[in-house]
Amino acid sequence: MREKTLPVQIDNIRAAAARVDGRVLRTPMVESGALSERVGAPVHLKLEHHQTTGSFKLRGATNAVLSLSAEERARGVVAASTGNHGRALAFAARAEGSLATICMSSLVPENKVSEIRRLGARVRIIGRSQDEAQEEVARLVTEEGLVVVPPFDHPAVVAGQGTLGLEIVAQVPEVETVLVPLSGGGLAAGIAAAVKGLKPSARVIGLTMERGAAMKASLDAGGPVLVEELPSLADSLGGGIGLDNRVTFPMCRELLDDVVLLSEAEIAAGMRHAYAVEREVIEGAAAVGIAALLAGKVASRGPIVAILSGRNVDMEQHRRVINGDVIYGKDAA
Ligand SMILES: *Cc1c(COP(=O)(O)O)cnc(C)c1O
Repeated sequence: MREKTLPVQIDNIRAAAARVDGRVLRTPMVESGALSERVGAPVHLKLEHHQTTGSFKLRGATNAVLSLSAEERARGVVAASTGNHGRALAFAARAEGSLATICMSSLVPENKVSEIRRLGARVRIIGRSQDEAQEEVARLVTEEGLVVVPPFDHPAVVAGQGTLGLEIVAQVPEVETVLVPLSGGGLAAGIAAAVKGLKPSARVIGLTMERGAAMKASLDAGGPVLVEELPSLADSLGGGIGLDNRVTFPMCRELLDDVVLLSEAEIAAGMRHAYAVEREVIEGAAAVGIAALLAGKVASRGPIVAILSGRNVDMEQHRRVINGDVIYGKDAA
């Protein structure tokens, strides 16, 4: 079994679940009548946007901080982040008596920056891409001795995100298809390792935006490649996978059954459905599962679980999406 050679196994995920127990929420799973009817198979929504700090990123950050020594925690942690990992690491570090420094590109929306400061982290705004922010992280590690907790490419982070997969199988034991938002692949790698470890017949599908899909381009190329970063409604899915990717690229290559791309209009439709029908406020990155179901882009082998991964959207932008304004893409004003 080739999975045995992968950097994160089901046992690592079980250990992570024990470690983060009581520090992260077990989020609700609800069945969507409207989506089930539409696709002709039961569709369940994992309401992970109700997680503390507003996204699943708290799982990986908490597991990573708890895996450090007391001496490392005292030095402080650092990460490059498009927002949600930064929030999560700020929260997790403070909860364990450490200080987080968060480096991010100027494309990150202001609501996310101020929230990270409010959670007690030090913020560095550097350049216009995730890769430039990453260079600042390397500098802080060398010059100030901080400890990196990367947003995705780290075994403890992947194992932490994988705890979501354990919950999915516990809540919907008969699950056949899991729809996972995909960027750097920490969420998809962790969930796929957990779900397939428990239920090898289940399919795990990664979903991402057409505009700057780094993991998709890398899987097609057979190794990590750079893609141009473009503004998207799914801003939490922006950024590269790292040219020196060690953990999430091999895991996604081995474990993902498919990767599906969504247009800006399809992502907007997913957000509108979540709001108007499911009564949930979610960010663009979290809407890709619903978007793919509405667009008929995934085979309806059910039961299906779609992960609503976060809710940290600028509410003014959310209002415009709900009103039907085109924000990004070829029809944008
Ligand atoms: C980070 C993030 C993702 C993607 O997770 P990766 O581990 O980078 O693939 C999806 N949705 C939200 C809300 C996120 O914050």
